[in-house]
Amino acid sequence: MSSAIVEALTSLLGAGRVSVEAADLEAHAGDWSSRALLAYRAGDAPTSPVAVVRPVGAGEVGRLLGWAEKTSTPVVPFGGGSSVVRGIEGRGHIVVDLSGLDHVSDVDVKSRLVSAGAGVTGPQMRAALGKSGFMLGHEPQSHDISTVGGWVSTRACGQLSARYGGIEKLIAGLEAVLPGGRTIESKVAPRRSTGPDLGALMIGSEGTLGIVTRVTLRVSPIPEDRADACVRFDQMSDAIAACRALAQSRLAPTLVRAYDAEDSVLLTMSLNDPPAGPLLLMSFDGDDAIARAESAVRLTNGERLGDSIVGHWWNNRNAAVDEYSRNMSGTGLLGPHAMLDTMEVAGTWTVLRDLYHSMKDHLVEHADFVTCHVSHIYPDGACLYFTLAKSCSDDVEAAASSEKWWDVGMTTCLEAGGTISHHHGIGRLRAPWLPEELGGSLEVLRAVKRALDPRGIMNPGVLGLDAR
Ligand SMILES: Cc1cc2nc3c(=O)[nH]c(=O)nc-3n(C[C@H](O)[C@H](O)[C@H](O)COP(=O)(O)OP(=O)(O)OC[C@H]3O[C@@H](n4cnc5c(N)ncnc54)[C@H](O)[C@@H]3O)c2cc1C
Repeated sequence: MSSAIVEALTSLLGAGRVSVEAADLEAHAGDWSSRALLAYRAGDAPTSPVAVVRPVGAGEVGRLLGWAEKTSTPVVPFGGGSSVVRGIEGRGHIVVDLSGLDHVSDVDVKSRLVSAGAGVTGPQMRAALGKSGFMLGHEPQSHDISTVGGWVSTRACGQLSARYGGIEKLIAGLEAVLPGGRTIESKVAPRRSTGPDLGALMIGSEGTLGIVTRVTLRVSPIPEDRADACVRFDQMSDAIAACRALAQSRLAPTLVRAYDAEDSVLLTMSLNDPPAGPLLLMSFDGDDAIARAESAVRLTNGERLGDSIVGHWWNNRNAAVDEYSRNMSGTGLLGPHAMLDTMEVAGTWTVLRDLYHSMKDHLVEHADFVTCHVSHIYPDGACLYFTLAKSCSDDVEAAASSEKWWDVGMTTCLEAGGTISHHHGIGRLRAPWLPEELGGSLEVLRAVKRALDPRGIMNPGVLGLDAR
């Protein structure tokens, strides 16, 4: 069966673009979810795909999905593989590695737009835009290991979202291929009133409805100056109130992160004489950045500290990628049986303080430490980002701890009126809690899935859309 699949794929794309090499299959079997990393650590890698295919354009993706529908072959799209919610997994499936869709257009300077293939990585995008003095402003911590198509498919959000927004705000147009091979395109426009937006349906669809092949994104000039400020509080509730004041002000911060006392320890542990938290970090760019930073300090009512802590954050902002990888491979500070995970949720300002306390109080019973920061702010609410860690006595305990965390965390979030994911997405990991999150809307989504993907070939299990 699998050799027939490989033969068929080779005749569709050519031999060079179909891989059955064991190391390649294993590298595309899982993602950065704690479950997959635990499996790799135990030498028991997730189930490998039958083949990894590397199309180089929407036409080839169309041919692939036409064939996959006809043969009912499960398809898992793969960008950078940095999903932390079990977005990449399968059985008897093919993985479509999109790294060949790597073309970035010249910047349309007049309209401030760029068009990029789904497989373009963060560093490729930064390099291409930087040549003409532009940037995207989408800076997820996983910037260096993720792709344009992955950002769109997971509704990702970068660390500078206070100013530049989540990925959905940056999308001006989108091309995608549906199961069966049809291509849909939402025309590039500043805004449209042309009926329901099919392109928007693909944002956050996590590979369940089709494959995003090209995206047109809004870009911004690289700012010349940046002004930083850091203040401390006695209570996290004061830091949360300061975030709300900033989000509802006209000060337009670029970066706002409020760390609770425990997360402040992690943030500043490599500094000499680190301050005790909670700490609020802020950055401003553009016109009057310094004046806006000064106004923000006054508005927050916190105790001003040296701004160098914010510089320290900028310099180390993506260090958690290596830290997570080291700990989950069993070679980090948490020892050979470490379990480490992150859980980001969202809530309105009305519920946020209680959401913070109830999640923290419940989670801390099951981990060695639980830390939290507010990392994305809006006029109506914010994201709470929890980090959980435990040094376990064996990998069985590590796996059980992870299961417990997700059960307790998601249940508590829903009870406290929160939304179960702010930016990592649902994948297979959070699917059990999506019915309660979405209520009756989930049935509508399932009907859309049945209409677009009647054979259920696209990333089965993700979002729990397969239930009939
Ligand atoms: C250490 C670390 C830090 C992180 N920090 C952030 C952060 O700051 N902000 C944030 O939002 N996320 C973050 N993430 C999560 C992850 O990086 C994002 O979800 C990212 O958007 C995934 O992009 P990717 O290219 O790696 O996608 P993948 O992991 O390859 O895929 C993600 C999902 O989308 C599907 N998919 C991928 N490409 C396509 C496509 N072209 N068409 C259709 N479906 C597709 C996949 O099948 C999968 O279900 C972090 C992850 C790690 C490991």
